[in-house]
Amino acid sequence: MKTQEFIEQLPVRAVMHRADGSFTVVPRVALGSLSADALAKINAVVQEYSLAGVRLTAGQHMMIDGVSEDILSDVVARLGEVGDTYKYKVQACLGNTGCKFGQRDSMELARNLEAFLDKFNLPSKIKASVSGCSMCCVESMVRDIGLLGKNVGWTVSFGGNAGKKPRQADVLAEDVTSKEAFEIIGKALDFYAENARIKERTARFVERVGIDAVKAAVFDV
Ligand code: SF4
Repeated sequence: MKTQEFIEQLPVRAVMHRADGSFTVVPRVALGSLSADALAKINAVVQEYSLAGVRLTAGQHMMIDGVSEDILSDVVARLGEVGDTYKYKVQACLGNTGCKFGQRDSMELARNLEAFLDKFNLPSKIKASVSGCSMCCVESMVRDIGLLGKNVGWTVSFGGNAGKKPRQADVLAEDVTSKEAFEIIGKALDFYAENARIKERTARFVERVGIDAVKAAVFDV
């Protein structure tokens, strides 16, 4: 099997081709967490193939750089779980499962959100983030979809971006249940999918059509 065909049959974001001809392999890190067994496997692979180590990214990924083409399939096979299970990446903090400030269970909501977002076919990549309180440690207000936990419910935001042209997201709703939050997110994404240009991120989309148009589609006003 050719290398490109091998990469294409792997889960999303499992392997990246670098400009110097080497590859970066991405062990699966679900919501920023790794089991002891997964960590041991990664360490064993890095040592066995004399790789430089691992690199952690701002997006809660772990990268193994400098993998040459001749060992790529072996490294992937030895790691076992690579890339992401779902199309769209969701970040989360511990929320009330481990942070003293946490108001809600951001980890559980993020797990459900990853599965929920997988049903959509969107015109561009999106990033989502779930913070367990208004301190917003996982930067939910600069993500396409953001959730913030409060003691009375969730704040839902849309259209944020932290890239070279940052945009603070607009709040679509406050103090809603997780079920209501998913309904709101679903309607906002349906409107985005139907009206956005190819590769137009939600931030640029909201700037072009206006947040009132998004709210009208979400709340039928
Ligand atoms: S947003 Fe920060 S302070 Fe708040 S629950 Fe998450 S990690 Fe804790």
